[in-house]
Amino acid sequence: MMEQYIEEAEKALLHTYNRYPIVFDRGDGVHLYDLDGKEYLDFVSGIAVFALGYNNKAYNDALKAQIDKLIHTSNYYYNVPAIEAAKKIKKISGMDRVFFTNSGAEAVEGAVKAARKYAYLKDGCTDHEIIAMNHSFHGRTMGALSVTGNPKYREAFEPLIGNIKFADLNDFESVKALVNEKTCAILFETVQGEGGIYPASKEFMEQVKALCEEKDILLILDEIQCGMGRTGYMYAWQQYGVKPDIMVTAKALGCGVPVGAFLMTERVAANSLTSGDHGTTYGGNPLAAAAVNIVLDLFEENHIIENVNAVAPYLEEKLDALAEKYDFIETRRGAGLMQGLVFDRPVGDVINRALKNGLVLINAGTNIIRFIPPLVITKEDVDTMTGILERSLV
Ligand SMILES: *Cc1c(COP(=O)(O)O)cnc(C)c1O
Repeated sequence: MMEQYIEEAEKALLHTYNRYPIVFDRGDGVHLYDLDGKEYLDFVSGIAVFALGYNNKAYNDALKAQIDKLIHTSNYYYNVPAIEAAKKIKKISGMDRVFFTNSGAEAVEGAVKAARKYAYLKDGCTDHEIIAMNHSFHGRTMGALSVTGNPKYREAFEPLIGNIKFADLNDFESVKALVNEKTCAILFETVQGEGGIYPASKEFMEQVKALCEEKDILLILDEIQCGMGRTGYMYAWQQYGVKPDIMVTAKALGCGVPVGAFLMTERVAANSLTSGDHGTTYGGNPLAAAAVNIVLDLFEENHIIENVNAVAPYLEEKLDALAEKYDFIETRRGAGLMQGLVFDRPVGDVINRALKNGLVLINAGTNIIRFIPPLVITKEDVDTMTGILERSLV
């Protein structure tokens, strides 16, 4: 049955993904099931999305209740779920104002627009520059692609938006060298995801923040993948105490219902986007906002962050042991339940064998296996995972 669906998919869907030959049918907890009923342990969670695990009853019930009440209304009117969600996200992030979007890329677009408007209001000029990082990933729309430091994703779509420069994460001098009086924002992921699981160093964060304050440049942090509890903090920057001026979040924010957000401090909000500058038909509609509300409630009720902090050291220990044991595994790096195992060779075959053996894994770049499981995993799940992974190595 799966083969027939896959054949049909290959005739109908645009070929933008090299998909694995599996049709997933349902999920439960940390497990996915394909159409043949085969069970998989999931260490991808839909790319760091389904933090709460699949088929969470409270989550499903909240969405069903909202569906029966009101799914959508325009942003020209108020709706209670969005107001509640905005209050909650302010509380967990310490930011002051939020704009809900439909995706991560769209949140990045909004952040870039806000930064440009902020600079424009200061000097009336339209030639401001943004400094982003090499190996970064911020999404596939034209603006988000413009700040994504990966030539492979960009080249065919040039010209992208202009005045973007690229520095190296954790190399403060490379950032400083690009700063001039036209720089309006410095943008990076607190932990680079797609680019290979590189956490920003505390020193780098502090140095960039100080430079931003000195020159009135906005610090934009992309917390789309590393945020929402994944590193053991609600947002990864909270570990460093380096607060951004603008922050973008998505992925686990709705745990599967498409929703993102960009947030800013009051100072930026009062001096950037204003009435008529930005909009979205769906962003923060009652259904999406209901998802945010129940997700944030369940994070608290189910002690999700505590679980990350309890399980992550065990995952690190297990991955370190693999890196120690096999000389083709070079190292492990990451933060919390966002880890990468760096091989000296492409990891595609390992991932394919793991899938056959009932374990869902994903790469980050060619040589790195990325571990971004649901945040509800247990130490036993880690044991199961490493057992299957080890059997799938060669
Ligand atoms: C996934 C991701 C994005 C893009 O989010 P979409 O919802 O796919 O548009 C942007 N930044 C980071 C760090 C991401 O991981």
